[in-house]
Amino acid sequence: MSADRLTLAVQKKGRLFEGSEELLKRAGVKLAYARDALLRRSENMPLDIMFIRDDDIPNFVASGACDYGIVGENVLYELAERSQRVAGLEVALKLGFARCKLKLAAPKDGPIARVEDLAGKTIATSYPGLTRKFLQERGVDAEIIEMGGSVEVAPRMNIADAICDLVSTGATLEANGLVAFETVLESEAVLIRGPKAAVNGAAETAELLIDRFQGVIASRQ
Ligand code: ATP
Ligand code: ZN
Repeated sequence: MSADRLTLAVQKKGRLFEGSEELLKRAGVKLAYARDALLRRSENMPLDIMFIRDDDIPNFVASGACDYGIVGENVLYELAERSQRVAGLEVALKLGFARCKLKLAAPKDGPIARVEDLAGKTIATSYPGLTRKFLQERGVDAEIIEMGGSVEVAPRMNIADAICDLVSTGATLEANGLVAFETVLESEAVLIRGPKAAVNGAAETAELLIDRFQGVIASRQ
């Protein structure tokens, strides 16, 4: 990446995209038109936005391919369990959108109603690192079954006794006969800073952008 232009990684499409786009717009960033591009230049700031999958954002920032990134704390902290480099990333700013909770849930009226009941049971999740850490802290020994998605069907399909999954309204849990009984992590979108972002020629642009982001967040309250 060019040393005097700031690069920011955002989700290409999904639940973080809309909030990221709105934040940039309200911060006065104008993007040059480029359909389906990986990289879009700003017309009015020395800033390039890279559009990628949210799961790739921490690694892009940790490796220095991008200076900053917007990602959910859930993804950031899950990947931090697997990578020292990601664990060393700095959270520059909490952004206050894409709020959700990582929760443990089990079938309604079943034998699992508290964390202790998970001993010797199986838990399906897309967040094995965070789930394992939580269980260790609570001294509960359970088997974790990693799933890429549709975790909420696991108990019904006899794949697992319980799940650990992202919840916002709880409607998906309810539709699958599940009840949440513990929160593992409360998450929102955060701005993460890479190791070289503070020293390259784009640091001034970053300062300006963060300042404007803070203004946008303050005006929402
Ligand atoms: P990608 O294709 O980029 O990998 P994805 O399918 O992994 O996308 P999304 O479902 O778009 O991800 O969710 C992105 C992030 O939005 C999640 O990691 C989380 O931080 C947040 N999020 C997830 N579910 C919700 C929800 N129900 N309400 C609000 N925010 C959520
Ligand atoms: Zn993802």
